[in-house]
Amino acid sequence: MGLKCNTKFKIRRKIIKISAIVLAAGSGSRMQSSKKKQFMEIKGKPLVWYSLFAFEKYGVDEIILVTGSEDIDFCKKEIVEKYNFTKVKDIVAGGKERYESVYNGLKHISGDIVLIHDGARPVLTNEIIERGINGAIKDNACVVGVPVKDTIKIVNENNEVVDTPNRNTLWITQTPQCFKATMIKEAYQKMMALNAENITDDAMVMEQFGHAKVKFVEGDYKNIKVTTPEDISVVESFLQD
Ligand code: C5P
Repeated sequence: MGLKCNTKFKIRRKIIKISAIVLAAGSGSRMQSSKKKQFMEIKGKPLVWYSLFAFEKYGVDEIILVTGSEDIDFCKKEIVEKYNFTKVKDIVAGGKERYESVYNGLKHISGDIVLIHDGARPVLTNEIIERGINGAIKDNACVVGVPVKDTIKIVNENNEVVDTPNRNTLWITQTPQCFKATMIKEAYQKMMALNAENITDDAMVMEQFGHAKVKFVEGDYKNIKVTTPEDISVVESFLQD
């Protein structure tokens, strides 16, 4: 999984603090398994272990793990203590929707830059983390992603095609999504005050309620979100021993 990395990041020569929020409060209903997706064993470790390990190994300054209120104890004993994750500063309860989980996590960070990551994306590399941090330092807001390979169609409720967007303008959005902390906190506060709906990622919050243009930085086609059963063998093949 690469070497331990302890890069110090600076803004105007001042060393800055990097926070990571790892999201593991979803129900994972599309996985159709008895165990919650984020805790399913992949190569002998719970799925969420992989992103915690990536951030710990990279050397971010603090990690906030967001999980279901009923799973906080399990995460503390069976993941954070068992695997000695020393950077996990807090384990906090998430909400019904992903954006509520992020909002709860944001209340606990103390960093200058925050990386918000789906715990269901285990193939997180040093390179992706570093590009995300540098992107947020340079542009205040960035998401990692990759250009789409397939043609994408817009359909109506009858599955009839209504449009075919130009493929050159389409990217797949991944995580981490990376921001200057004060700016994403402000955007989230505005969004929550207005009871916005259909918020599916953090970039949307910045786009609609924030003051920074969101830029893409290069992700990785392997950085997939484990969502349905067939994704498991795919990520197992991507994860090196
Ligand atoms: O549901 P989906 O797979 O798109 O969720 C993406 C990530 O957000 C997962 O890691 C999931 O655990 C997390 N999530 C969350 N709180 C929710 C819904 C999803 O932390 N209410």
